[in-house]
Amino acid sequence: MKQSMTLIPTLREVPADADVKSHQLLLKAGFIRQNASGIYSFLPLGKRVLQKIESIVREEMDGAGAVELLMPALQQAELWQESGRWYTYGPELMRLRDRNDREFALGATHEEVITSLVRDEVKSYKKLPLTLYQIQTKFRDEKRPRFGLLRGREFIMKDAYSFHSSQESLDLIYDKLFQAYSNIFSRCGLNFRAVIADSGAMGGKDTHEFMVLSEIGEDTIAYSDTSKYAANIEMAPVNADYVKSDEALQGLEKVLTENQKSIEDVSSFLNVSSEKCIKSLLFKVDDQFVLVLVRGDHEVNDIKLKNLFEAGSVEMADPHETKTVLSCPVGSLGPIGIQNVQIVADQAIKAIVNGVCGANEEHYHYVNVNPERDFEVKQYADLRFIKEGDISPDGQGKIVFAKGIEVGHVFKLGTRYSEAMNATYLDENGKAQPMIMGCYGIGVSRTLAAVAEQFNDENGLVWPAKIAPFDLHLIAINMKDEIQSSFASELYDQLKQNRFDVLFDDRQERPGVKFADSDLIGLPIRITVGKRASEGIVEVKIRNTGEMLEVSKEELMATLTNLMKNL
Ligand code: ATP
Ligand code: MG
Repeated sequence: MKQSMTLIPTLREVPADADVKSHQLLLKAGFIRQNASGIYSFLPLGKRVLQKIESIVREEMDGAGAVELLMPALQQAELWQESGRWYTYGPELMRLRDRNDREFALGATHEEVITSLVRDEVKSYKKLPLTLYQIQTKFRDEKRPRFGLLRGREFIMKDAYSFHSSQESLDLIYDKLFQAYSNIFSRCGLNFRAVIADSGAMGGKDTHEFMVLSEIGEDTIAYSDTSKYAANIEMAPVNADYVKSDEALQGLEKVLTENQKSIEDVSSFLNVSSEKCIKSLLFKVDDQFVLVLVRGDHEVNDIKLKNLFEAGSVEMADPHETKTVLSCPVGSLGPIGIQNVQIVADQAIKAIVNGVCGANEEHYHYVNVNPERDFEVKQYADLRFIKEGDISPDGQGKIVFAKGIEVGHVFKLGTRYSEAMNATYLDENGKAQPMIMGCYGIGVSRTLAAVAEQFNDENGLVWPAKIAPFDLHLIAINMKDEIQSSFASELYDQLKQNRFDVLFDDRQERPGVKFADSDLIGLPIRITVGKRASEGIVEVKIRNTGEMLEVSKEELMATLTNLMKNL
């Protein structure tokens, strides 16, 4: 591709509204342009990277036995009403009406469409299992579109759905696709972890998210420093052994703690460690209020709370609700004397001896508090977030945290959609059974941005060879110099004949501009035709190591083939 003929509008300044590296560099290097908030055009370079990622995705999906199809982005409301999600998906689903006033949605995901398709076309167990996938634009009216392609409102997803007549068959395909996902992200060059994730209210039990490790990630991953264990922090169970001290129980006492509200305030004011403090928080679990107790140095994990109650929603009660239900301000809550709401506590609470808690009265706390003697707990459970330094849930090593960007998600759906939408097959005995399903997503455009986020330096992008928009950047320093320009053109033809993907900077620009643009775009290898053109010698530079060599025209093809092999 000749640079003079394509569109690569590089920028010298960092765009003001781009606050993460990948977003800044993709704009600066001319890969994407914003159209509206969370909506982007992929310019020729961006489109080429997308295509390369898509080819890897297709190869791996096909290899795992999945088959590609393409479903409509415009989806009739009736399907979403059948599954019930028309009413529960919320404002993220973009809805519209046609000229006849019929309601539609722009596809945020395709469980409904595919379930209705397979329901109509597959009747017998003999046609199962069946795994179908597509690569398509998705629409989600995100509350906070941000970080460029990482959280868009229109983005490209690979979504796959599998249909089965048995749990074993689902388990098998799930493992195959899990492996395909690992291959895809490895081939993209990414440093990632597959983590155990929350299956939420969707019913299924096994679910994993593929997380690219990055400071700007929105999720926290808890992983073992020695084993392969990795989970979304929300999901990591705590296996701690809390040992009760043999300290003698003291008499309960109410003390004045004027203006001491936070755990830190109270523990330093009363001179007790935060491990002896009981943090009491009022939650609204579906429609009921629940007082949740955790140790002062721990945090309530609302996902664990939600799962304990098998609830649809869990949120903290606001100050007004707290006042109404427990007649006291949020900072003074405690379990003693509470009658009208049930109390659940994290396991660590059981081991507290002579602790401290709020007295349900402003400016007062209780000291020498002892669970069971002074208040009753309906249930003890694992309700806190795991902490760095805790023992890994698999018993091997200690937990460390990292931030991650979710690029993929595999999920055992079970019969959530097939039951709601009546997608059944006839089994060997001619009996109708709901199909068992799995779903599997990859954010293709998000993956592109995640690679840009992991692979860059102070001069620009540094694409891994397998998904770089081109393999080579051919530059002639001075296109007005007859020898340089004809030598460069000759090389360009030769490189193309030898099946290299090459971008030829044939522009009449100053060398400084050409080099700066080239570094910004970040192709794996640069070939510069300069002063030694008359001798038939070019300079070859590797983008990610900065290594440079001078190579003669005769040796160039062999040298490049060798270099590409090792990139
Ligand atoms: P998130 O928690 O980031 O909102 P999600 O759980 O809503 O993601 P899924 O519904 O599982 O995501 O979608 C499958 C994949 O699509 C995700 O793993 C992610 O890579 C990608 N994805 C989801 N939302 C967006 C978005 N707004 N922009 C770009 N990619 C997205
Ligand atoms: Mg989302």
